[in-house]
Amino acid sequence: MIGAIAGDIIGSRFEGHPSPPDGFDLFQADCGFTDDTVCTLAIAHALLEGEDFGVSLRRFVRRYPHAGYGGMFIRWAMNDDLPAYGSWGNGAPMRGSAVGWLARDEDEVLRLGAAQAAVSHDHPDAMAAAQAVALSVYLLRHGTSAEVVRNRMSSQFGYSLAPEVAFRQGGFDVSSRGTMPPALAAALSAPDWESAVRKVIVLGGDTDTLACIAGAVAEAVHGVPDDIADTARAHLTEDLVEVLERFEDRLLGQS
Ligand SMILES: [Mg+2]
Repeated sequence: MIGAIAGDIIGSRFEGHPSPPDGFDLFQADCGFTDDTVCTLAIAHALLEGEDFGVSLRRFVRRYPHAGYGGMFIRWAMNDDLPAYGSWGNGAPMRGSAVGWLARDEDEVLRLGAAQAAVSHDHPDAMAAAQAVALSVYLLRHGTSAEVVRNRMSSQFGYSLAPEVAFRQGGFDVSSRGTMPPALAAALSAPDWESAVRKVIVLGGDTDTLACIAGAVAEAVHGVPDDIADTARAHLTEDLVEVLERFEDRLLGQS
C-alpha cells in the first residue's frame, strides 16, 4: 500500500500541469499526499477494524478536508445522510488497493472491492475499476504473472492494455474507465516500480491518481525501493503513519 501512497505523493505536484520531462525528480519540496492517500488509508482502516467503509471515509476526509477531493465527493463526505451519488470517477479505484492485500480469496477481493466503492461511487464502471485494482494486487502478490493479470483485466473488465491504446497522452480524465488502462498497462509492463510511476506521470492529466493506482499495482509485482518508501512515509502525518503501521503489522501476521 505504500506504493499507492508514494505514487500519489510523487504525482501530486504535476496534477493539472504540463507533462514533466522524462527524468524528473521524484520528490521535491512541493510534493505532498492528497485525497488518494487519505482515502486509501481510510479504506485500509475500515478493513483492519471491521468498520463501515462510509463511516471511515467520512472521518478521514473530515480530518483532512483540503486534500484535493472532487466537489461531489467532499459534499458526500461532509454530510452523514447523503447516499452514494452514481459517480464513475477514479476516486473508487484509487482508494482500493488495501483490499487486494487484506482479502483472503478472489471472491472476497471482488466483494470488498465493489463494497468499498459503492458507498459513494456506485456506478458500475467505478465499482468494476475498484475490483480490478484489488484483484490485480491480490493476484500479483500471490505470484500470478503480469501477463496472466493483463489478460484477466482485458477479458474480465474490458480494459485495452495495448501500449498504443493505453498510453494516449493529453487531457484530464478522471473517469474510472479512462484511468485504469494507462495505470494498469504501466504497472504490468514496467521493469520496476519507479518506471511504472514515471510512465504514467509523463502522460500528464490526473497524475497523482494515475501514479497512485500504477504504484499500488506495481508494488505487488516489484515492491517499492526502500529509499522511496521511506521518503513517502516521511511525508505522512503521525496518525496516517499509524494506520500504515497497523496495516503492515497485519500483513506480517498473515504471512
Ligand atoms: Mg489526488
